[in-house]
Amino acid sequence: MSYFFLKESDLKDFVRKLISSAPVIAPVARKNKFVFADLESPDELRLDYDITILPPKKAFFPPNQTLLSFKENKATSAIRPREQILFGVHTYDVKAIDMLDLLFAENNADNNYLANRKATTIVAMTPQAVSGRAFWESVGKTVQPNGHDALMTKIREGYVFEPRTPQGTRLTKSGIFSQASSGQLDEASKCQSEIAAKCPEKLSHSTREISDKMRASFNNEKIWHTASLDCFSCGTCNIVCPTCYCFDVQDQWNLDQVSGARYRTWDACLTEDFAKISLGPAGAENFREERAERFRHRMMRKATYLNSRLGGPACVGCGRCSEGCVPDIADPVKIINNVMES
Ligand code: SF4
Ligand code: SF4
Repeated sequence: MSYFFLKESDLKDFVRKLISSAPVIAPVARKNKFVFADLESPDELRLDYDITILPPKKAFFPPNQTLLSFKENKATSAIRPREQILFGVHTYDVKAIDMLDLLFAENNADNNYLANRKATTIVAMTPQAVSGRAFWESVGKTVQPNGHDALMTKIREGYVFEPRTPQGTRLTKSGIFSQASSGQLDEASKCQSEIAAKCPEKLSHSTREISDKMRASFNNEKIWHTASLDCFSCGTCNIVCPTCYCFDVQDQWNLDQVSGARYRTWDACLTEDFAKISLGPAGAENFREERAERFRHRMMRKATYLNSRLGGPACVGCGRCSEGCVPDIADPVKIINNVMES
């Protein structure tokens, strides 16, 4: 494995060359928040961001995506992947992308997701700043980020750049890289440990202990009723989550009534209609009619149901749900610690 070094003064030139080779999606500022957006210039890049509003999965799993178009009995696929570079993805968000890669590939492979994902080169970044509700240091500690093509870590005079795939190695041709020294590697490793220690929130039990206790709490109605009292079923905690992957599929018909498009939009299991099904003339059934049931379902998905498939919890500790929830009741650390102490 080769490790490279890029001087701070050469970063903009490197990013400029990347932009000229392919679209680059990277963190940029929007007022006092950050979002992933197509970079027009290296001056927009904000590698010092703490968290983005929406997770980077939107680069290959957009909130609204056309799946196919149709006319009479003929359907035409809308899969048109764009070769792109997703730059500056924090390591906890790479872990979330790894989960989606696995879930979208198993059973009936989701070709719309997989084609976009395959066309995306990911440059991960050791966080330089930590958001106010992050706990990524203490969750799923045995699972390491895996799906990135290169990892960058900021040190005093520049960046240690570690390619992990041939695509990652190819990127070094666009910049003035030198071999990283052992001193620079030590400094990068120290930066990684120091920033992890700054996560303000912390889970105090192991993944296994949490999983077992969460399952055992399923029938404790008091816990889930109390925890969800202020929930107004807006679904924000789902929509901002990097590991949520549910979507709704709709057909949009043109006025000619023989053609149209099928598209999907992100869906949210906290919303009232999510688990509602039609029974035809008999009306409708809602499998999770009560908000406490929906609230519990989200936490069961994050802390236990998917663990055996993913090798760890379906939460990477980004803290977006905690920041996005208006009544401030969605924080997995508070919910899990409360269950563990019950
Ligand atoms: S963000 Fe908060 S209020 Fe909205 S659905 Fe989630 S828990 Fe409920
Ligand atoms: S549940 Fe919350 S903290 Fe965990 S990954 Fe989703 S948004 Fe981040």
